[in-house]
Amino acid sequence: MNNCIFCKIIAGEIPSKKVYEDDRCYAFYDIQPLAPQHFLVVPKQHIAAANEITEDSAALVGHIFAVIAKLTAELGFADGFRVVTNCGEDAGQTVKHLHFHVLGGKTLGSFN
Ligand code: 5GP
Ligand code: ZN
Repeated sequence: MNNCIFCKIIAGEIPSKKVYEDDRCYAFYDIQPLAPQHFLVVPKQHIAAANEITEDSAALVGHIFAVIAKLTAELGFADGFRVVTNCGEDAGQTVKHLHFHVLGGKTLGSFN
C-alpha cells in the first residue's frame, strides 16, 4: 500500500487547506509556513523527487509552473515569489513525493 502522506492528502484521506486542484495537480498551504504566502503544488501522479522527472513528465511539470503563475496572480503576489523543490536528503527533502514550494508575500532573502 502507498504510505505517502502527499498521496493521502491528494486522496482526501489527510485534511489539507486546498488552494487549487485539477486533473493533474493539487495545491495546498504548507502546514509550517516559512513566509506569509507558502503553498505546495504536487503532481497527482506519485513521482518521488525532481531526480525522477523525465521527458515523459515534462508537460506535467510545465503545467505545474503555469498553475503557479496563475495562483500567485490570483493571490496577489505574482510580482515576487520563489519556487523551490528539495531533492534528496542532502537538500532537506522530507516528503518523498515531488512538490514545489511557492513562497512569497515578503522580501525573500538570498539563499545558498
Ligand atoms: P520538504 O522538506 O520535503 O521540501 O517539504 C515538505 C513540506 O511539507 C514541509 O514544508 C512541511 O511543512 C510540509 N508538510 C509535511 N507534512 C504536511 C502535512 O501533513 N500537511 C501540510 N499541509 N504540509 C505538510
Ligand atoms: Zn505520493
